[in-house]
Amino acid sequence: MSYPNTQLFIDGQWQNSADGRTLAVINPATGQEIGRVSHAGRADLDKALLATAKGFAVWRDLAPVERARIMRRAAALMRERAEGIAQLLTMEQGKPLAEAKGEALAAADIIEWFADEGLRVYGRIVPSRGNPALRQMVLKDPVGPVAAFTPWNFPINQVVRKVSAALATGCSMLIKGPEETPASPAELLRAFQDAGLPEGVLGLVYGNPAEISSYLVAHPVIRKLTFTGSTPVGKQLAALAGQHMKRVTMELGGHAPVIVCEDADIALAVKSAGAAKFRNAGQVCISPTRFLVHQSVHQEFAAALAAHAKGLQVGNGLIAGTQMGPLANSRRLAAMQDLTRDAIEQGATVLAGGQRIGDTGNFWQPTVLDNVPPQARVFNDEPFGPVAAIQRFERLEDAIAEANRLAYGLAGYAFTRSLRNADLLARRVEVGMLWVNTPAAPSAEMPFGGIKDSGYGSEGGPEAMDAYLNVRSVVTLNV
Ligand code: NAD
Repeated sequence: MSYPNTQLFIDGQWQNSADGRTLAVINPATGQEIGRVSHAGRADLDKALLATAKGFAVWRDLAPVERARIMRRAAALMRERAEGIAQLLTMEQGKPLAEAKGEALAAADIIEWFADEGLRVYGRIVPSRGNPALRQMVLKDPVGPVAAFTPWNFPINQVVRKVSAALATGCSMLIKGPEETPASPAELLRAFQDAGLPEGVLGLVYGNPAEISSYLVAHPVIRKLTFTGSTPVGKQLAALAGQHMKRVTMELGGHAPVIVCEDADIALAVKSAGAAKFRNAGQVCISPTRFLVHQSVHQEFAAALAAHAKGLQVGNGLIAGTQMGPLANSRRLAAMQDLTRDAIEQGATVLAGGQRIGDTGNFWQPTVLDNVPPQARVFNDEPFGPVAAIQRFERLEDAIAEANRLAYGLAGYAFTRSLRNADLLARRVEVGMLWVNTPAAPSAEMPFGGIKDSGYGSEGGPEAMDAYLNVRSVVTLNV
């Protein structure tokens, strides 16, 4: 399948940037340029902002049932086109084809759930304390045009969660997509276009992230900002949004602890956490990263996780049988090299991997590091790659303290057969999402988001809708 050049989507039209500027798109499995993506300048952003304002005026007044109809058509198109979209996603991002297809299909589920939820955005009538003729109404209105910034690790999923909540509540959205993986999110927007979305309701631009965000967040047309990416960038954008009093949703980095208790089902722990660890080559904000294992089961768990890592088929995601693809860009490869070297220098032992594979593409061996000291960088900086770091513990309280030591608070995992342990973990581990005895399975209907430095706001469940709604009270007296 050939890989297309990606244009900007402004006012319902696919178009080149006004100055014709483009950026290269590189296949991370081959290191080769496979296409170009248009780079928006100020003139393109101004045009896109105007269109977003126009789109909002149309979309907010469309009946929710009609909005839902268009959304459902887009979901059906995503299902129909999932095979082709998955090819593009694998070519630009590297993940195995099955994962890419799963992402395109999951997008359809997410759109449908939000389409339904959009039918139930109700206000309420509150009885008056005195006069029965007083009508006290609570209204929920769309917040307005939203600016969204989405990263390259799940190029479709990161957009579709934001877009679906925005559309279901009557908002328009201007998206700054990921320059490194532009074609698959463009296909998502094409599905909405082909489903009959009015012009301007969604826009998609690429370019210089810092220039675009500083312009859009400050712009009076934009009423809300939603960002997925690293914590340092999230803090900068939240500060900027604060200066302009814009609503914010921040889905930032994590450093997920996996607590394996002495009474854990070890085979289940290795299977679940192992699959989660190496999915998308570890470039997942909820990826398990700090494995805290009770000393009585430490050896058994570490050996089994290392065997799992060594057994994975690593290669070009387009080739059948590939279980883990390359890292999405060369920055991640350099980071894996640095984190692994540092851990070894600090006394960790390598149980699996630890090396680059070949010299073409960004391939890194699935890596398991054991006896990693808490000061090692891999135990402090978000690895965002296929490196599992193990540390043993004696008392569950110590594991919980280690889990909570970092400023991150996104995802956590635990394996135990004890209800007492599970309850303690649920109450004490400071994360937005905890999975006990099960791999992570985020769904549209469950809240998705972090606490502490991992951000605020949710991208799932009814809470994701609230983030796009203004609540207003209107009181009228019948005279
Ligand atoms: P980065 O921090 O430069 O960029 C992360 C994302 O933020 C990218 O999509 C980028 O385009 C965007 N970005 C950067 N500066 C921006 C700005 N001023 N305004 C708007 N958007 C901006 O680093 P990177 O090398 O692309 O990714 C590395 C780190 O980012 C990872 O280690 C991970 O911590 C984090 N990350 C997190 C997620 C997530 O799902 N939470 C996704 C991708 C990357």
